[in-house]
Amino acid sequence: MDKNELYSKVEAQYDDLKDMAMKIWEYAETAHQEVQSSRIQKEYLKKLGFEMKEVPNMPTAFMAEYGKGYPVIGLLGEYDALPGLSQKIQTTQEPLVEGANGHGCGHNLLGTGCVGAVAAIKEAMDAEGLAGTIRYYGCPAEEQLVGKPLMAKEGVFDDLDIALSWHPANHNEVVNFSSLAVNSIKFRFRGVTSHAAMAPHLGRSALDAVEIMNVGANYLREHVEDSVRIHYCITNGGAVPNSVPADAEVWYMVRAPKRAQVEEVTKRIYKVAEGAAMMTETTVTHELISGCYDMIINKDLAEVFNKNLHEVSGPVFSEEDYRFAKAIVEQLPGATQASVMGSYYLRPEQWEGKILIEDVIENDNWKEVMPGTFDHGDVSHIAPFSYLFLTGIPVGVAGHTWPVTAGAGTEMGTKSMICAGKIMAGTVYDLMKDTTLVEKAKESFVKDTGGKKYVSAFNE
Ligand SMILES: [Zn+2]
Repeated sequence: MDKNELYSKVEAQYDDLKDMAMKIWEYAETAHQEVQSSRIQKEYLKKLGFEMKEVPNMPTAFMAEYGKGYPVIGLLGEYDALPGLSQKIQTTQEPLVEGANGHGCGHNLLGTGCVGAVAAIKEAMDAEGLAGTIRYYGCPAEEQLVGKPLMAKEGVFDDLDIALSWHPANHNEVVNFSSLAVNSIKFRFRGVTSHAAMAPHLGRSALDAVEIMNVGANYLREHVEDSVRIHYCITNGGAVPNSVPADAEVWYMVRAPKRAQVEEVTKRIYKVAEGAAMMTETTVTHELISGCYDMIINKDLAEVFNKNLHEVSGPVFSEEDYRFAKAIVEQLPGATQASVMGSYYLRPEQWEGKILIEDVIENDNWKEVMPGTFDHGDVSHIAPFSYLFLTGIPVGVAGHTWPVTAGAGTEMGTKSMICAGKIMAGTVYDLMKDTTLVEKAKESFVKDTGGKKYVSAFNE
């Protein structure tokens, strides 16, 4: 089987994959609720002869595997939607169902593209007797930045030699920048309630503790590195003003370019919480909601991915796709566009005046850290990892918005997904044919991590 034949194995699934992506788009299930979305992918891969494996304690996560032994190559798929982003497939904002969920990050395409790739690789393995294991990971709850860290805690990525994934984006590029590590923590204060007018001296306000904690955290900002981000929101501030709130909760996120920085600042935030509890004579407990690592992009693996991106090239869009994209782009303020495209470290000439980017972009951004978090950061500390962006979103449209939901239900989205399937299949094929590429990636992985073994944030 030559590579063109391999690509045609992805193309041949066009209708099935489109149907799958559309069903997941319609289900629009949010974090950990992806029962139907994961089921439809499980059924598809099981029918093709993949061996199915469950992930402990995570009913909407799964693995589908084919082949055996070295190299073990994993494709990380996602299928969760976002709350409140329901949208009709049209160019003006109008929810399909008021207040409902929607695929405002295109994860209906993301997981399905990976499914198409592993199915094609299986055929190549059968035809050529290629040695190795191909594994699809159905990963839930990416939008809560917790799916893959929880899966990693269960050890399901430990035997991987290589991990790959992709995301629909505003342009075509093998990602070559890092992303932020994060801790997401809820602090719960407990005090004593009392009548706020008649007996305030008997009350110990949990809300006071939250407010004092936030003051402390805001002073702390001056004494952390510039790259650290601390954000919070009060998720329980009491019910009525005339009762001293006995319970209050504040939700924090601490982000930084390196996991070690996040851990260090988190310890200081814990002290701030304890100080606030002491000052208000309340007690405090905390719950780690999630902890993610920064993303390491493996340079050697990215080279193989990039070669395949050039071979296949990005998606080619139709007049209808352009018409749809243009109607959306015309609604965007110029400053928003510049800010979105700038966050990918693109130069103005690479996007200005464009509607959909078909060019393959190759900038040198290895020293950059994207100011956001991906939950596959954890996997990138367990195995060599590379990540592909592929155009499926018009120029300047930000993620987690209604135009993404709309586009993820069109041919524009499907083309991006099929193209991603081909590029990923081609990359896995190259790695299985020439395992010196795998070895090279593994060597640079050891250098990148300094040989440090991954420890889940949940076990720190
Ligand atoms: Zn996403």
